[in-house]
Amino acid sequence: MDTQRKLEILADSSQYDLACACGTKDQDRRKRSSEGTWLYPVSLPGGGKSILLKTLLSSVCVNDCKYCPFRSNRDVRRCTLKAEEIARIFMDYVRRKGIFGLFLSSGVIRNPDFTMDRMGAVARILRKQYQYRGYIHLKIIPGASDAAIEEIISLASAVSLNVETPRRSAMKQLSDQKDYDRDIVRSVKKISELTAPGSAYSRVSQTTQFIVGAADERDSEIVRATFGLYRRWRLNRVYFSAYQRGLGDSSLPGERHPVGDPGNLLTREHRLYQADWLMRKYGFADDEIPFEADGNLSLQVDPKEAWARRHPEVFPMDVNRAGKFELLRVPGLGTVSVGRIMKMRTGGGKVRSIRQLGRYGKRLEKAAGYLKFGY
Ligand code: SF4
Repeated sequence: MDTQRKLEILADSSQYDLACACGTKDQDRRKRSSEGTWLYPVSLPGGGKSILLKTLLSSVCVNDCKYCPFRSNRDVRRCTLKAEEIARIFMDYVRRKGIFGLFLSSGVIRNPDFTMDRMGAVARILRKQYQYRGYIHLKIIPGASDAAIEEIISLASAVSLNVETPRRSAMKQLSDQKDYDRDIVRSVKKISELTAPGSAYSRVSQTTQFIVGAADERDSEIVRATFGLYRRWRLNRVYFSAYQRGLGDSSLPGERHPVGDPGNLLTREHRLYQADWLMRKYGFADDEIPFEADGNLSLQVDPKEAWARRHPEVFPMDVNRAGKFELLRVPGLGTVSVGRIMKMRTGGGKVRSIRQLGRYGKRLEKAAGYLKFGY
């Protein structure tokens, strides 16, 4: 198989691994290049947009993750790119298209350390032979040794290891081979230690992903684990990916209705991103996120509005007295409108009407029901 054909197969396969800032199943947002690779739009740290080349090193895998289309017992066409091939293709992209960076993942060839060594070889060629100083995101393979993790981190701009699920018993539903404590938790802690502030690799960011609805986990468990990953292990971002029914083993809970209803799972994914936003941007703790009796987020109401409905004692909130993080709890108000309120209040100024906060559409109409304008 020539390089071009391998690249088409592997880049296409990488669409199932969405744990990066550019991750999207949205066909409108990602673009196929003339060579068949996937190019993903990304927001740059300093503002502006660019594109990222995303591919697998190999679709060969010795693991048995039951949600994954590349698990070892499936009869799919598999191939592996050589490190030199990926490096050459990538540098060609950099020269011709000015792309932002590389996102490289892989199935497990032979064992985790062997795979990490092959991925590291790509980064080493780029860094040493081509003197490439730009962005390289490398996946950490669950079960890799501490030495292999450190070697990858020394070459990368960002790394990620998918935790997939918030507890050991749910991991047992997903894989007979992966050991949750040994292969996942230990590695996340190791990455966190190596990239801690003040450490040699503090410039390297760490992200992860949960797969939503393949096992029987609840949103409350995912939210609690997410909060811990941010607070305790300082992860930069946590991503959520709805399980795609039909890709996995028929024994998975996610293959059964209603747990695996595709519409419900996409809504769960969306609600988890909303809860994640409340924790990262609006100062909510995990135990303030409201869940239904079954431990999941409401499919009908977004978590911020659900919280407001459970806390009538807080409303109506005085727009001219409340603090920034109190105002951020008002449904319909976001960081822009709260910033506008704080600016209008500087030097003793007052907000006298909801219409002063911007165009009076659905969001401000909703906010108006939770506010009062004392002055
Ligand atoms: S390790 Fe698991 S998720 Fe990754 S490619 Fe192999 S089977 Fe798929």
